[in-house]
Amino acid sequence: MSKNQELFERAQRTIPGGVNSPVRAFRSVGGTPRFIERAQGAYFWDADGKRYIDYIGSWGPMILGHVHPEVLDAVQRVLANGFSFGAPTEAEIEIAEEICKLVPSIEQVRMVSSGTEATMSALRLARGFTNRSRIIKFEGCYHGHADSLLVKAGSGLLTFGNPTSAGVPADIAKHTTVLEYNNVEQLNEAFSAFGAEIASVIVEPVAGNMNLVRATPEFLNALRERCNEYGSVLIFDEVMCGFRVALGGAQQVYGIKPDLTCLGKVIGGGMPAAAFGGRRDIMAHLAPLGGVYQAGTLSGNPIAVAAGLKTLQLIQRPCFYDDLAKQTRKLVDGLTRAARDAKVPFSADSIGGMFGLYFMDSVPGSFAQIQQGDTKRFNAFFHAMLDAGVYFAPSAFEAGFVSSAHDDGIIDATVDAARGAFASLAA
Ligand SMILES: *Cc1c(COP(=O)(O)O)cnc(C)c1O
Repeated sequence: MSKNQELFERAQRTIPGGVNSPVRAFRSVGGTPRFIERAQGAYFWDADGKRYIDYIGSWGPMILGHVHPEVLDAVQRVLANGFSFGAPTEAEIEIAEEICKLVPSIEQVRMVSSGTEATMSALRLARGFTNRSRIIKFEGCYHGHADSLLVKAGSGLLTFGNPTSAGVPADIAKHTTVLEYNNVEQLNEAFSAFGAEIASVIVEPVAGNMNLVRATPEFLNALRERCNEYGSVLIFDEVMCGFRVALGGAQQVYGIKPDLTCLGKVIGGGMPAAAFGGRRDIMAHLAPLGGVYQAGTLSGNPIAVAAGLKTLQLIQRPCFYDDLAKQTRKLVDGLTRAARDAKVPFSADSIGGMFGLYFMDSVPGSFAQIQQGDTKRFNAFFHAMLDAGVYFAPSAFEAGFVSSAHDDGIIDATVDAARGAFASLAA
């Protein structure tokens, strides 16, 4: 038995499903999850000593590749000073200033420890600010696992085909309305019907939890306009696309200012850090200034902040995002050519350092279109690539991520491996 199999059997005795987050379990692609021992740059190694080119990067955070020497150094320098104080530090001001500088719609920001906490807190704030209960989210967008947001959520839930989670009271779910992504008409109908009740609209402005799906500019503009008309708080959940599709996130790409923004993943550089922030007049409703309660023992943790701050500094080097976008584009173009040569129906898209692979003829624009993909083919492709030492997300409903450590040689090796994988699918 391989070491991975041994560990997976052992893990299942004390951990539900053997994993601490569902999509890691390989349920939708089948087979044994790889237990990771160490990582460096664009690679990681599993318990059997096999090396993989990593295209999930911890689901987004590792934008500089694994164990970047300057991030490692920043973490090592603060480690000996203490792990957590429960009292403020200067580094928390520095990361807040950096975030407000890089994302101009954020005038004030609060640190939390996970993306789930960021979206949950932003929603409570929006409800407290507007004195309204109803929220709108969109099919296929994932915003973490807070009760109000596990209503037809994407990501792991989508993989398992469950429309909602057990354990979410109907009395809570009833305040959440789920609409179609990129459907302006439906959005307008919802606002005409009950606009004055809507506390907040939350959206992934570039969706990455139903595979990669871009919002249309018309859709995001309509969100901004309706929220303005009805006094609803527009929340961009940029936990995944923030610092990923561009330095200023999707809001920079589309030129639209949300009222609140949620950040995570890249902002912690691989450590547990996330944040939410936005308009000063809204943020002023948070405790200790206002009546909306929100807190965290490890919020702004000094080790996490050190990793995040150094990461935010390094992604500001000249041409960082141009190079990242170019490498990502090179990957998806190479894969598209390889699929075409093997006559496998396939398309791909990328924006900044994020990409989507689709086993269908054209790039999808909605959750319904994503469902048309050939998941059987995806699963066979996933395993052929895994055997060849390339680790893509173990689900057809997840995006992929390229880091600045993915150089030309690594992209070329990936495309070569894909030629073999596509050929085996066509056969
Ligand atoms: C990952 C993610 C979250 C949840 O973040 P966690 O840190 O996993 O809680 C929320 N929103 C989006 C868009 C995400 O991609």
